[in-house]
Amino acid sequence: MRSMDKPAPDARQVRPASADRILPLMWAGLLTLAFAVGARADVELVRNGEAVAVVVIADDANAVSRYAAEEIVYHVRKATGATLPILTESAASAGPRICVGATRAARKANIAVDRLAPETAMIVTTGTALIIVGGDAAGDPLATDTFAGTLFGVYEWLERDVGVRWLWPGELGTYVPELRSLRATTANLTVAPRFFQRNVRPGLTFKGEHAELGFTPAVAGEYARDLAIYLRRHRMGRNVRLSYGHAFTDWWAKYGAEHPEWFQLVKGKRGPTRPGGSYSMCVSNPELHRKIVELWRGKRMRSSGAESRFVNAIENGIMGLCECDSCRAWDGPQPDGFLEFYPPQSKVMGSRFVTDRYTRFWLAVQREAAKTDPTATVVAYNYFNYFHPPTAGTRLGAQILVGSYPSAGWYPRSAEEQAWFLAQWSQWQETGARLFSRGNYCLDGYNLPWIFAHQFADEFRHQVRHGMEATDYDALTGHWATQGPNLYLLMRLHTRPDASAEELLAEYYGGFGAAAPAVKDYFDHWERHTQGQREQANRLFADNTTRWRAWATAAHLLFPPESFVPAEAILARAAVLAADDPQAAARVGFLRAGLAHARLEVDAARELTLAGPAANPERGAAALAKLIAFRRAHERSWISNFNHAAWVEDRSWRLAEPRLLSGSPSFAPGETIASP
Ligand SMILES: [Zn+2]
Repeated sequence: MRSMDKPAPDARQVRPASADRILPLMWAGLLTLAFAVGARADVELVRNGEAVAVVVIADDANAVSRYAAEEIVYHVRKATGATLPILTESAASAGPRICVGATRAARKANIAVDRLAPETAMIVTTGTALIIVGGDAAGDPLATDTFAGTLFGVYEWLERDVGVRWLWPGELGTYVPELRSLRATTANLTVAPRFFQRNVRPGLTFKGEHAELGFTPAVAGEYARDLAIYLRRHRMGRNVRLSYGHAFTDWWAKYGAEHPEWFQLVKGKRGPTRPGGSYSMCVSNPELHRKIVELWRGKRMRSSGAESRFVNAIENGIMGLCECDSCRAWDGPQPDGFLEFYPPQSKVMGSRFVTDRYTRFWLAVQREAAKTDPTATVVAYNYFNYFHPPTAGTRLGAQILVGSYPSAGWYPRSAEEQAWFLAQWSQWQETGARLFSRGNYCLDGYNLPWIFAHQFADEFRHQVRHGMEATDYDALTGHWATQGPNLYLLMRLHTRPDASAEELLAEYYGGFGAAAPAVKDYFDHWERHTQGQREQANRLFADNTTRWRAWATAAHLLFPPESFVPAEAILARAAVLAADDPQAAARVGFLRAGLAHARLEVDAARELTLAGPAANPERGAAALAKLIAFRRAHERSWISNFNHAAWVEDRSWRLAEPRLLSGSPSFAPGETIASP
């Protein structure tokens, strides 16, 4: 199997997308590859604001190609004012064109359009045509499980030749340079995602019981739509429809009576320590391994493709607790400092180090499954008391896929802490296991300017250099105006994993025109502030196992009034600098609205925090009314996902009974987002 990490000599040699080769392709750690297949040939698209070219799709174009064509038209119009018509191939006459999807023109250019790998795209220019085509599947182009190679090819082209950047969801966050004329200059390029799965959970299921604090339902729907568009523009998706998650949550109900020996032994008793409680498994039990594989075999018969080889062995979301002799016999020596950077009150403190037993468990399941399929791959999480890497010399190999899932390590970190977390990842890589990032960091910070962009990028890039093959972040809280640099890097590193934080932040700041230096100063101020509040935040949230939902109890302590003063002054300066540029001025206005909103939240937190014995709904009524009025007035600005803010406030503030504030219907309480 030829590796794709070398330039292909000829477009015709792009290999077919059979199930066979999906895995080698994705594991190859694909880079964006450029290779020449002939002379460079620019195509004129727009001249002095007038459309010169048309957009051509196949007569039977799929939904992905039709949508990709619309995305070209939208962005080119935004840049130049010209509207390129979309025509089917039969209806188009000769002349300059952009051919999108599996067209006859693509085939004539010797592109094996039916054999492109899922999500892989080719961008080719001939004398009169720009051809963009990729490995697509049928389905909704906005659904992350729809292979959308053509669409991803279009986005790559829009970035390269038009200079488009997607700063945040919606019209204002779509940065497009003003151009009078436009030519397609990208000559010949094959692009494939670096990670087989790129996932930031969208954060659309957050709901508080106090509906008036969140979006009104119609606006929540609009936000969901704009967010889905935005996530695809950043190429969120996957080319293996891998399914995984806590594997054993219903096992006690199903098998507990007949096979209590498959479950944890704690204080002499098998199964959950209290009725309905969570539990871990007796992972050294060979019967358990056989049962996992038996169930996988049944499921495997009903599926096809690369995903059928993955065996889900992800333990329930609890520490590994089994005290039986055989599990303990699988444990390695207890390392020093394996919980070094966990909060002192963490439930993990004092626990036993059980990584070695879990790695033996994964390998045992893998060996059992290999009897059915030699390529069987076990999916696991490392967390709690088995986040720390196994005893040196442990060999896991490429048929174990580990989701790295720290149960601590919130940003910002001290230098020592950052180094420790990076070392944990590298040591896991040394086992030969495949790795993906499964962090909850993004849930932190409420809607305040809690900026840790550089530290996040430092960790992400370390993980990329040490074998990261996929991501699954929980979750996108969506506070676009206050946490822009964090979120832009979270998105952008998925397509430009080798770029430095500074390069990518320069793109972000570039959207503010002449105000760019001031906007950089603004977020630098908050990043310094955030780093300075590290110890206080760790102390304030030390008791909280769900720190991300308790944040609004301490908003006023972590963001005292004096911290806002320089921030507001910098944004006032930014507004002056942007005054002659309506787009840049509007974006500075967006940041100012976000800051004003954050300040109202801090004011409300001071009066309503559950951490303050004197707090009560009456005392906070005026501050809350101001906050709600501000949210109603800024509903469609996307400065913030108000539903996430409401979800945090629900657990942080002493509020009146639901419905009393505005009479609007309350959402059903529900929280599903934090559990995978
Ligand atoms: Zn056991």
